[in-house]
Amino acid sequence: MTAQQHSASRGGRDDAVHGRLLADDTRHVLHPWADLSTLGKQDPLVITGAEGVEVVDSRGRRYLDAIGGMWCVTVGYGREEIVEAMAAQARAMPYFTPFGDVANEPAIELAAQLAALAPGDLNRVHFTTGGSTAVESAVRVAHLYHAALGRPGRRHVLSRTDAYHGSTYLAASLSGKQADRVRFRYEDTWVHHLESPGHDADDTSVSAAERLAGLMAGMEAAIDRIGAENIACFVAEPVLASGGVLVPPPGYHQATRELCGRHDILYISDEVVTGFGRLGHFFASQDRFGIVPDMITTAKGLTSGYQPLGAVLISDRIAGTLAETADPDKPVFSNGFTYSGHPVACAAALANIELMRREDICGHVRDVGPYFMDRLRELRSSPIVAAVRGDHLMACVECRVPGESGPTPRNMALAHRVDTYCEAGGLLVRPYENLCIMSPPLVVGAAEIDRIAGVMADALARAEADLR
Ligand code: PLP
Repeated sequence: MTAQQHSASRGGRDDAVHGRLLADDTRHVLHPWADLSTLGKQDPLVITGAEGVEVVDSRGRRYLDAIGGMWCVTVGYGREEIVEAMAAQARAMPYFTPFGDVANEPAIELAAQLAALAPGDLNRVHFTTGGSTAVESAVRVAHLYHAALGRPGRRHVLSRTDAYHGSTYLAASLSGKQADRVRFRYEDTWVHHLESPGHDADDTSVSAAERLAGLMAGMEAAIDRIGAENIACFVAEPVLASGGVLVPPPGYHQATRELCGRHDILYISDEVVTGFGRLGHFFASQDRFGIVPDMITTAKGLTSGYQPLGAVLISDRIAGTLAETADPDKPVFSNGFTYSGHPVACAAALANIELMRREDICGHVRDVGPYFMDRLRELRSSPIVAAVRGDHLMACVECRVPGESGPTPRNMALAHRVDTYCEAGGLLVRPYENLCIMSPPLVVGAAEIDRIAGVMADALARAEADLR
């Protein structure tokens, strides 16, 4: 086998193909979340193959994927049973409209499975195409619910600074990452951002209990100011993911749940990242944080990233109200997408859930999650690490030039440098501002966790040496 054939067999492309791919990408593709200053000059990493917890680029280079695709590849790559389930469904019936009273078998089966996995009475499933459409749909359900009860004034939505809920216009409006609020005018008349539950790692002057008290006082003040009678819902990630892996202080979930319940503000738990095992449970809301929301949104790990799919899990109380109060003249729930509950995607999700159960993936995450966090916390000995945050298999390393804190240009450049050294060392992490974010496939073992920590330590040492 020539070197070129060898490279191709592992996912690599020969030089001519690789060159053409790069040229066509540069000329024709506008990537999601692209850096516009490099448009037309981009030099993308073209991923062409994947197996287990590793991916291969078009040059045949292998990387341990500590991004998990994008928080989503949970059971790892190359899972034949998921691929087979998708192929079988595509052969049998690839697509038919899900609108109105038309159904497909995998979507029905999946809805029943999700209802069984969900906490409380969240037994009604509305499928979507991904996370953003799930969040948008949940807010629409909240609006409809209040309107059905004769209180159409309840339109305002509470979200939080640093939240990320997606990229459609409303989901982007709900998101509270300041860095993303560039040049767009988001909805700000009825979307309100409460204080982020994250905090400055250097600030040890405030205890967790004091932080919790401050956050709750802020939330109560916002409800007073807006008027509970005007608020439809509160949308919250149990652990804020893309905003910087921010874990709220103990008691926060219960306190926010109780406050929302007291004011009949619907609680929407956005589990697009935290669901499907990342925190060691199918859903983190109840099993990790002890609350039963009114709705849960899920996507990503629902299919392990093998297919795009999202869902809103809705309580029987809400669904029952919608049914009982349906307008006889206009009874239609005017929300849904061509590919809502796509049969091939639902078949992938069913195979994924079966696999997760059979291999007890959630149990595995509960076992290795603490080890992952311990190994990453060792990195705090580096002078350029400001903090290591996370929970089970979602984590981030916050970088800083000594003496400088926050997402300053120098700190962001430093994190970018760490990211580049990780990539050179065969590890993919996700740079965001001054953070290196990690969410490896849930099947990582101790040896791979050691590899992640080792490459990261080397990358930090090299980036630190560059500062001297
Ligand atoms: N909600 C959360 C918590 C997310 O992290 C994301 C995506 O990262 C979304 C919603 C949006 O999901 P999608 O990109 O599938 O639309």
